[in-house]
Parts: sequence; structure tokens; C-alpha cells
Amino acid sequence: MNHASKRTITEPAREIPLLMETDIVVVGGGTTGPLAAISAARRGKRVVMIERFGSLGGNLTLGLNTKPSGALVGGLPLEIWNLARSVGGAGPDYMAVVKTGGVKIASPCDPEMMKILLTRLCVDSGVQILFETFVSGPVTEGGRVTGVVIESKAGRQFIAAQVVIDCSADADIAAKAGAPFVMGSGEDDAASRKMQPVSMYFTMNKVDIKRLADWARTCEDVPARAIPATDAGLAYGLWLTGFNGSLQQWQKDTGVKLQRDNITLKTADGLMYVNATRVTGVDVFDPKQFADAIVECYRQIEGVARYLRERIPGFEGASIGQIAPVLGVRETRHILGEYTLTGADSTQGTHFDDSIAADVSALDIHDPKGADVDFQGLRPYEIPYRCLVPMNVEQLLVAGRCISADHAAHARSRNMPACMATGQAAGIAAAVAIDEGVPVRKVPVVRVQSILRALGMPLHAEEIVQ
Ligand SMILES: Cc1cc2nc3c(=O)[nH]c(=O)nc-3n(C[C@H](O)[C@H](O)[C@H](O)COP(=O)(O)OP(=O)(O)OC[C@H]3O[C@@H](n4cnc5c(N)ncnc54)[C@H](O)[C@@H]3O)c2cc1C
Repeated sequence: MNHASKRTITEPAREIPLLMETDIVVVGGGTTGPLAAISAARRGKRVVMIERFGSLGGNLTLGLNTKPSGALVGGLPLEIWNLARSVGGAGPDYMAVVKTGGVKIASPCDPEMMKILLTRLCVDSGVQILFETFVSGPVTEGGRVTGVVIESKAGRQFIAAQVVIDCSADADIAAKAGAPFVMGSGEDDAASRKMQPVSMYFTMNKVDIKRLADWARTCEDVPARAIPATDAGLAYGLWLTGFNGSLQQWQKDTGVKLQRDNITLKTADGLMYVNATRVTGVDVFDPKQFADAIVECYRQIEGVARYLRERIPGFEGASIGQIAPVLGVRETRHILGEYTLTGADSTQGTHFDDSIAADVSALDIHDPKGADVDFQGLRPYEIPYRCLVPMNVEQLLVAGRCISADHAAHARSRNMPACMATGQAAGIAAAVAIDEGVPVRKVPVVRVQSILRALGMPLHAEEIVQ
């Protein structure tokens, strides 16, 4: 196979039929998209949400991530978590001990229950979901997005819309519409650019969780932790990060080479979730590199499962339950919006008049070169509306991990509480723009803020009581 070939083919021009017209299209039904879609639909807008896979939740559910790295402080994100709690699909918030002190974290959810709840909330609010449908590009007219082109078993079609919200995580539609963006830390040269690595979660069955928790209480090799006081709390409340010493020793003893210094274990509905794989320097837009990263994750998963069985109390009879069906991608494009959130903004809690969310997610940087994880609890910070508004392209908003934030700020804003909050704000802003007959760039942010406040969403850092 010759990958360097410059050979091309020419696609014949063809007419693409309209599938439907709507007010708002949401691209991607992952962690962020459903919040954008529900928020807009609850304001009476016709909303179509398009998801390439057959279920909702993206990295939250299919990626087996399940745990927001921070408390959910209000609005629709908290409503969803409280709904999950009411049906046994999530536990109470807990305090995790990390090197900077304590971080309040919303417990993980059961990803299967979360898929059901997100789907039900979308349907109940009137969102038209299109599953197993890929958005291949925007439809644009004179610098304005007027819809999207989709690919499904029906072939290629388009959907016309007044506003498109890109929640694809990679800013696929924004990039194709001509919005400026940077990859990772932005350097042109991939070798000097910082970009967080990819990973693949997996679960393990038949873990004796009580035995593991009792051992971890007395183990210095697990410095970052939340260990519930009661056995009942273990179902959703056990979180352990570390194992550096014994992991290194096991690699020396066996000759198996893994890629992370530490691993994270957490429980959800009594099942053990393992975050332990890592591949650095992957260009996820290169299909071969993407595939190679999955192959490498599978190799590491076998190794980590063996390490846990051989060295960690409670895992003696355990086996791999499920490997996430999707590769977990932490960082790709950051769009350049009307404002770019900086690392300093996110650590110092800069005040923004147009803030659409105060967030208290941890700072979570996985070293792009493959060393350890920097996970710190920090004071709240604010996300301005301008971070959701890409430069150069009209009637397009971006929400989720690809908002306009630099590499350092993204270490906080990529976390699920922030992603969900930006989705909520984008959905409301799109609806308000349509109601007021103004472009999304000119939406009266005070109106968006008053709607968010009515939903109980804190907008400024000092409003979050920790
Ligand atoms: C391994 C890993 C561990 C993490 N751990 C944590 C953690 O502990 N806590 C935390 O808070 N955060 C964590 N994060 C970060 C967080 O999970 C993500 O940043 C967040 O879920 C991203 O949300 P999103 O909606 O932007 O993307 P996603 O959840 O990935 O959703 C994007 C959706 O868009 C769909 N899509 C994409 N392109 C198209 C297209 N062209 N057409 C149709 N559909 C499309 C995808 O299928 C997907 O459903 C972790 C991330 C990774 C990778």
C-alpha cells in the first residue's frame, strides 16, 4: 500500500436533496450536543440533532468516561445528574483528595442509564434525533452557514437551518465552514505542538471492590483518592489514582511496556472502570494513525488487566468486561472565537461580563509527551459567550471541548461540566437569536444570562459556594 501517493479522483457534481428544514441543527449527540438540543427545543425551537453513532452521550457514555471532573453546579447539567440519581444511575457528589487538597466531584453515572435518560429528555422536549448519520460538511452562502450535508444509508442529503451548533468535539463543521482554529497548543510544527494524548477506557468484571477499598486505605502508592466510608457508597464513590510504584515494578518484572506512569480506577453502579491507556502524538484526522492508536490501546488494555489481576488486591478473579467502542480523544482543534480563554483566565477566575457559565472543573492535563497526569482542584472560573462564537463564519456556534480556549485553559474547559454548560448556553443563545431576529454573533447576552439564571446556573465565579 502506498500512502504517499498523490493520486486523486474527481467526484462528479450531483444534486443533493433536502431532507428537512429546521430552526437549529446540532452536530453531534455526545456529552454536549444533547444539552444544546434540549435547551433550544425547550424554548420552542425546531431542533434536529445528528449523531454518527447509534446512541447519545459520546465520550460520557460510549467512551465509558462517566465521571464529570468537578461538581455540576446548576442548570440542565445538574438536572440531568439529579434525574440519573433519582433512578439509581448516579451517586452523590464526593470529595476526592488530590495533591492540591480536595476536589468536589459529581459521581460517575451508569452510562447505559445515561443513554436512556438523554434520549428520553431529547424526545420529550421535541428534538428530532438522527442516529447513524454523519455530518460531512456545512452548507454555506456568503460566509453564513445555512445547513449541513449529511450521509446515511439514504445517501447524501442536506438539512436547512437558521443556526448550526457544532458539538462534534473536533469542530468538524466550523473548520469546514472556514472558521479559523488551532490544533492543540497551536504551533505549526506537529513535533513542538502540545496536544493531550488519546486513551481508551475499559471495565473489569468480578472485582472485589470492598477488598480493593480496604487495601487502598492503607496504601501510599494511591495518593489521589476518594474512598467512601460505607460499603453502600462503594457502588458509585470509589476513585483511585496512582499505582505508580507497583506499575513500574510489574513492568520491570514482566518486560511488558505500558505508556502511563499512573492509572485511575473508579466505580459506577458497582462496576470497575479503568483509565490506564495512552498513545501520544496521534493525528486523529489521519485514518491510519487513528487505527494504529486503537490497536496500541488494545495491547495496553491486555497488559493493564494482567497487572491488576497479578498485583492489586480485589482483582484476583477479575476479567475484562467491556472495552470502549470509541477511542477517547482529549484534544484536537480549538476554534478561534471572538475571545480565546487563556490558561491565566481559567486559573485566576477572570471576570467576564458575558459569562455564560461559572465552572469548577479540575485542571486535568495529561502530559502530551507521555509522563504523568496533572490533576488539580482550583477555584471557579468563567466562560464568556464569545468563546462559542467563531470568527469569520455567521450563524454558527461551537460548544464542547473545541470552544475557543488555549491549550492551558482547555485543561479545565474540556471537562464534562464545562462542556455540558457550553452546550446549554449555545442552545439558549441560538433560540434567543432566532426569537430576536439577530445573528448569533449579536445575540443580547443579557437575555441569555437571565434565562440561564432562571435555570439556576451560576454565571460568575463568586456565585459558586464550594
Ligand atoms: C480518556 C478520557 C478521559 C477523560 N476523563 C474525564 C473525566 O474524568 N472527567 C471529565 O470531566 N472529563 C474527562 N474527559 C474529557 C471529556 O470527557 C470530554 O472532553 C468531553 O466528553 C467532550 O465532550 P464533547 O461533547 O465535546 O465531545 P463528545 O462527547 O466526544 O461528543 C461528540 C459527539 O459528536 C459526534 N460526532 C462527531 N463528529 C460528528 C459528525 N461529523 N457527524 C455526526 N456526529 C459527529 C460523536 O460521535 C460524539 O457523539 C476525558 C476524556 C478522555 C478522552
